[in-house]
Amino acid sequence: DSVFSHVVRAPEDPILGEGKPLVLNVVRKAEQMLVNDRSRVKEYLPIVGLADFNKLSAKLIFGADSPAIRENRVTTVQCLSGTGSLRVGGEFLARHYHQRTIYIPQPTWGNHPKIFTLSGLSVKTYRYYDPATRGLNFRGLMEDLGSAPSGAIVLLHACAHNPTGVDPTLQQWEQIRQLMRSKALLPFFDSAYQGFASGNLDIDAQSIRMFVADGGECFVAQSYAKNMGLYGERVGALSVVCRTADVASRVESQLKLVTRPMFSNPPIHGASIVATILKDRNMYNEWTIELKAMADRIISMRKELFDALRARGTPGDWSHIIKQIGMFTFTGLNKEQVAFMTREYHIYMTSDGRISMAGLSSKTVPHLADAIHAAVT
Ligand code: PLP
Repeated sequence: DSVFSHVVRAPEDPILGEGKPLVLNVVRKAEQMLVNDRSRVKEYLPIVGLADFNKLSAKLIFGADSPAIRENRVTTVQCLSGTGSLRVGGEFLARHYHQRTIYIPQPTWGNHPKIFTLSGLSVKTYRYYDPATRGLNFRGLMEDLGSAPSGAIVLLHACAHNPTGVDPTLQQWEQIRQLMRSKALLPFFDSAYQGFASGNLDIDAQSIRMFVADGGECFVAQSYAKNMGLYGERVGALSVVCRTADVASRVESQLKLVTRPMFSNPPIHGASIVATILKDRNMYNEWTIELKAMADRIISMRKELFDALRARGTPGDWSHIIKQIGMFTFTGLNKEQVAFMTREYHIYMTSDGRISMAGLSSKTVPHLADAIHAAVT
């Protein structure tokens, strides 16, 4: 008998294994250049990863003219995509920050509570989504952050909130910023969709840049999974913006102590692809064009789905489909309706009614619209 016979089967992750994203042309080109470069070796990277990649990643998220970068107040370390960056940041905070409570939005990406709990933080939620309007519960958000203990960490989705597709407006971001700074709440941004939401890298980084512009401190976890289609390469970065260069360099020395026993050092291939693209003006431009095409395609799928429901006279207000931002539509369909669509129409989405717009095409929109129509009538 196995010594593990008591192990119970864990539930399958409902999301992983979905879809087959395309490889960007500019990524293929960068890989070709890397393969042809005979001087490249398979040596370990330093604990903090590829230096060029880190520098260019900070520039991409904070902006080329960021004073925080110029003043050397930012430390950036390469981590295992967005997930690993959140985890390394979480563990650093659990070890070195006085307030070990992190507030995450309700709802949020399902991995957030697990990542931060295992990091050693205590996880609480703040109100975010209003099912009645299928929009932001701004008042609830401000009330909950307003009553959070001073110094608490707050996780913010930089853009294209997952799963709701609902983002604050710039005016609302400004109010959030003022409230958080007045209470010394520490912002921890999760940036998994930069450029993928609006099609523009700078616009999608505006929320973060507002918080950096006031001179205050913040954490940012960056992922290249979506915006470069590098899902399986696990390439991302954690940046910590500090008050002074001296603090930043001490923080970096401690980030190394988090990474070393966790995975020693990050993988070289994905980071080399990203660095190759970001440092060459032509390749960078080519990337932004491909990125915009991906974002535009999703926006046009939203429009097609909305029009298809209107054409069918489907009861209800479906304008949230075109108002929401990013890869996902939070349909507002309930569990029973989702189960009905899976059973009768073989349409698969998460049980909270979240549809991946990236998986839709003009060919499949009519079938989806038929299914939604049948589910609600
Ligand atoms: N954060 C959010 C909100 C996400 O939706 C995702 C991926 O779905 C991630 C982080 C991390 O993804 P990865 O670890 O693949 O970069």
